[in-house]
Amino acid sequence: MKANFHTHTFRCLHAYGNEQDYILEAIEKGLEVIGFSDHAPFPDIDYGLRMKFDDLPEHLAEVDKMKKKYSGRIKIYKGLEIEYHPQYIDYYRSLLSDSGLDYLLLGEHMYTCEGRLKNIFFAESTDDYVEYAENIAQAASTGLFSCIAHPDIMMLNDFAWDENCDKARDIILDAAQEYDVILEYNANGFRRGLHKYSDGVRFPYPDERFWKSVSERGLKTIIGSDCHIPGQVCDKAVELSEKEAKKLGLNLTESMIR
Ligand SMILES: [Zn+2]
Ligand SMILES: [Zn+2]
Repeated sequence: MKANFHTHTFRCLHAYGNEQDYILEAIEKGLEVIGFSDHAPFPDIDYGLRMKFDDLPEHLAEVDKMKKKYSGRIKIYKGLEIEYHPQYIDYYRSLLSDSGLDYLLLGEHMYTCEGRLKNIFFAESTDDYVEYAENIAQAASTGLFSCIAHPDIMMLNDFAWDENCDKARDIILDAAQEYDVILEYNANGFRRGLHKYSDGVRFPYPDERFWKSVSERGLKTIIGSDCHIPGQVCDKAVELSEKEAKKLGLNLTESMIR
């Protein structure tokens, strides 16, 4: 791995290490590029276990400071991982313009369905996957997001693969293709370990049944570490991701900067 665009810090309240800790680890592992994409806050919703809205300016200033400090040693990008809710369009725009973000990584954990906030970690059936995918497609259509983080994260729920899974996958893949948004092959799914699901023993994600289709369609894919500890920047899970991505024949890119 030469570049990682999916990096968290202590500021999201469920990761360890500050900005510099991740940069030093990335340099140590021979990375040429590191992009910060901590869990973004919203001005007026707090899911918990996210950066506080009041801490955002300090984080962005720190990344700017590090860009200068480490210039010539590693290329640093300033991004955020963020959920899509239609009412925040102006907020996303201002993050990219006023706050000078280099990219937004669409990280759908919570999503809006018919005005209700839902959490994909607690899907009630595979019907939820389809509405989740539609939400991702809507986000992609705004052109504000460079990449979809862990686009198959819904597979961590224990439902056997069915036609809704095919449908959700195809909705996401069609959107990625139409709006030229990169798909992320996420190493953190491997860190979660093998689990016994009703359709067999597997990692929660990345799911081969999803990624085979990505490979067949040749859609642009990036490997993301999704590190929450500095030592995870380029760890065994990332190595496994690289190996599996190669085996699948994914069309890999090393940048999400447009
Ligand atoms: Zn996280
Ligand atoms: Zn993440």
